[in-house]
Amino acid sequence: MSARSKLVVGNWKMHGSRDFCESLVNEIKSETQDFSAQVEIGVCPPFVYLPLIAELCAGSRIMPGAQNVSAEEKGAFTGEVAGSMLADIGAQLVIVGHSERRELYAESDVQVATKFVAVQKHGMTPILCVGESLQQRQQEITDQVVLAQLDAVIEHAGIAAFAGAVIAYEPIWAIGTGETASPEQAQQVHALIRKHLAERDSDVASTIQLLYGGSVKSANAEELFAQPDIDGGLVGGASLESKEFVAICASAER
Ligand code: PEP
Repeated sequence: MSARSKLVVGNWKMHGSRDFCESLVNEIKSETQDFSAQVEIGVCPPFVYLPLIAELCAGSRIMPGAQNVSAEEKGAFTGEVAGSMLADIGAQLVIVGHSERRELYAESDVQVATKFVAVQKHGMTPILCVGESLQQRQQEITDQVVLAQLDAVIEHAGIAAFAGAVIAYEPIWAIGTGETASPEQAQQVHALIRKHLAERDSDVASTIQLLYGGSVKSANAEELFAQPDIDGGLVGGASLESKEFVAICASAER
């Protein structure tokens, strides 16, 4: 039995309204308040609703998080949001390097690594996303792709920076497609990531939470979370329905 607690984080992406976000977080809050402390829960709304969510989550077990952050500290970067601003309004988690950011907004490994450092600089927890495309899996280069994404951050931030950070393995072919990696496929990559970290720092490797993301739902969460190196999930679509998300969190209790 692992000593690591489980973590389930909802990535709401660009969905919702003030009313929707308010009722979703209130439902999650009330339905999970009696869950064991071994299950940590986070929600990442769009930036504009983050102050509202942070206020509603204050004093509760739900950790508010952001979906992105600027790599820059401050200045003439129109449309960007700095790490200091996220910390200022109470964000605790920040997703960095989500495949949608890497693919649709051409975020490079170096930018992702700089964002990872920016998040930690302001006392928040980065959730670093890594994962291969369908083509890369078919070419059987999943391991190289994932480790290259990880190494870019290790080289920039140092292995010690991974103490207290979170990594999410998210195969791109499983995101929003309804197609989930099998528990064995996911476990294989999670074990690879943990081994790679262990070769550099065994304490970091044994304590870091490794999440799986890619069409997690209540029907498959328990089996995924039962794998020895899967410490929870990063959940997109299914996090927008309170019953479904709460059921996924409940799977992490078992
Ligand atoms: C995600 O976007 O991080 C994600 C895992 O999405 P989904 O659960 O919808 O596949």
